[in-house]
Amino acid sequence: MTHIEWRTYEAGHCMHPQCGTRRGGMWKMARFPALAFLLRHPAHGAMLFDTGYSRHFFDATRHLPERLYRTVTPPRLDETESLRDQLARDGIDVRHLATVMLSHLHGDHIGGLHDFPHSTILCSREAWNDLQARGRLGALRRGLLPALLPTDFPQRVRWIEELPRIALAGSFAAFGTGYDLWSDGSVLAIPLPGHAAGHYGLLFHTPDDGQVFLIADAAWSSRALLDGVPPPSVVTSWLGDTPAYLATLARLQKLRQSEPDLRIVPSHCEEHSPR
Ligand SMILES: [Zn+2]
Repeated sequence: MTHIEWRTYEAGHCMHPQCGTRRGGMWKMARFPALAFLLRHPAHGAMLFDTGYSRHFFDATRHLPERLYRTVTPPRLDETESLRDQLARDGIDVRHLATVMLSHLHGDHIGGLHDFPHSTILCSREAWNDLQARGRLGALRRGLLPALLPTDFPQRVRWIEELPRIALAGSFAAFGTGYDLWSDGSVLAIPLPGHAAGHYGLLFHTPDDGQVFLIADAAWSSRALLDGVPPPSVVTSWLGDTPAYLATLARLQKLRQSEPDLRIVPSHCEEHSPR
């Protein structure tokens, strides 16, 4: 079995009321880290799963109507906290990052994409087609900021849906098809529909933490997975597809029960922040 080394980064965070992410939650403000992940394949090198916030996010939301995005979910990012800066401090040259995979196209996941101009972008065609079909306000309403996508995106993209397919088995069978990033079964993109168009997680084995499943925004926290409490339906319907979100959350809950050693990592969970 190929083992993938991994590391979690926090590239900024945002503040919003807990009840926006949890039905029946409190109105008090909660902190939601924007996590991004570095994976290292022994033969294929380093890749990223999402990018968090960066100064480009602030540029893209400077003016109305895009400014509404940062009014609704006020982000915080220290000057030296961008993913690119953190990677540089860890001795990682962005030119050596072969791939940046985007779990979905929300601004807090693709906010740093401009900082990785040399990488192949791995993205869902469904997510891209959804974005192309929207006007400026229609995109913003769904948490999409097209200005965060580089102009050479079409030349650099590889579609997740065109990767080799694997029929998932055992505890993962309910997720249907996995997409094999390196054609060796070591890293699989797993569809997690509902939160946003073309929303994908990533599954791999690590040397120290066993099997890891990055689930992006399919659940807002480990606690939500534990007790199965989704965000209010007004939020899931605003961003995506509520019935699909609930079905994915239920599948993840079941998976958590059948695979207690599996490390399931939501992208905005404080429990998984390296801070
Ligand atoms: Zn999202």
